[in-house]
Amino acid sequence: MRYVRVDTQSDPHSETFPSTEKQKDLSRYLLSELKAMGIRNAELDTYGYVYATIPGNSPKKNVPAICFCSHVDTAPDCSGTKVKPILHKNYDGTDIILPDDPSQVLKLSDYGYLQQQVGSDIITASGTTLLGADDKSGIAVIMEAASYLTKHPDILHGDIKIVFTPDEEVGKGTAKIDMEKLGAKFGYTMDGGEAGSLEDETFSADSVSIIINGVSAHPGYAKGKLVNALKIAGNILQLLPKNEWAPEVTDGKEGFVHPVGHTGIAEKASIDFIVRDFDTSRLKVHEDRLQRLAQDVIDQYPGATMEFIVREQYRNMKQVLDDHPEVVAYAAEAIRRAGLEVKTESIRGGTDGSRLSYMGLPCPNIFTGMQAIHSKLEWIGVKDMVKSAETIVHLCMICEEKTT
Ligand SMILES: [Zn+2]
Repeated sequence: MRYVRVDTQSDPHSETFPSTEKQKDLSRYLLSELKAMGIRNAELDTYGYVYATIPGNSPKKNVPAICFCSHVDTAPDCSGTKVKPILHKNYDGTDIILPDDPSQVLKLSDYGYLQQQVGSDIITASGTTLLGADDKSGIAVIMEAASYLTKHPDILHGDIKIVFTPDEEVGKGTAKIDMEKLGAKFGYTMDGGEAGSLEDETFSADSVSIIINGVSAHPGYAKGKLVNALKIAGNILQLLPKNEWAPEVTDGKEGFVHPVGHTGIAEKASIDFIVRDFDTSRLKVHEDRLQRLAQDVIDQYPGATMEFIVREQYRNMKQVLDDHPEVVAYAAEAIRRAGLEVKTESIRGGTDGSRLSYMGLPCPNIFTGMQAIHSKLEWIGVKDMVKSAETIVHLCMICEEKTT
């Protein structure tokens, strides 16, 4: 609850790194808390990353260094200024009216997962801001586990690396990360939802820009000459399927193509798309289909031309994790030892873990309990956070045990 009071909203339009300087307010605070735990090599770099190591204490020499990662920033979608967290003791299942905006009501009928919190404590914001459990709950459980490990030197473990990143919500959480300084064999982002959930699969993602070159002419004398790029763009958008191939009509393991932006003038227009699938090879199938659809439209406008630009965004972490099956297996074992059932899930999105996995740090995502993220109704169950912290401690022990 201390961490969410610090405003750390990131900004997608910023050119600086971190995107907002205020994220460092929390980073500095975390640094001081880590140092107060007696963790000596904790540091904050100029980009706002916090790195820390809890040195291994195992007599075994080759226990892998593992990393736990969470992000300090909160989503730009919802205000994070003057967050007032409220602890609702012994939640009884009735509606919770958030005091600063009574139109914000957390209801069991809207959030079925609340049922599992009846009789336990939950935390919400006060109605005008998000809570910031995404991902300050991840920070809280890592700090709790770190504090526990430093107070219990009898628990054997290898080097435990901690990293808190800025700018995850604006897609730049790993942009300035120092993998050498991190120095871990594999890692875990603590940035997931329901208790027990373990996410080992993300989308693979590309972006596509279609740039349409029309033919300009003075509109008074344009007969037979003018080719309007805006109309071509509109035609392409109109031809996108309505019942398939779009985020609003797909779920589960289905991929999609999704227009996210359109700019232009009569002479030249562009449409930006995102392309998503769990199967990386299917991205090309989607892109070829989109290119054919667009080219067919262009061909109806003599004189018009098109550029079709594909950019890689991120890749499904499962491709990397399948080569290191112990990384997910240890996490599943840790969740079970914490007394929970493992729910292996796929993320219809990307995480810092997808990027880290391809940067050499296989990195699935583990639950903290966060719910209704990026909204004013965001909430979290305290017992889920406790289980999440327990999972971290078990994971550290399992890595040591399994090392021969
Ligand atoms: Zn997050």
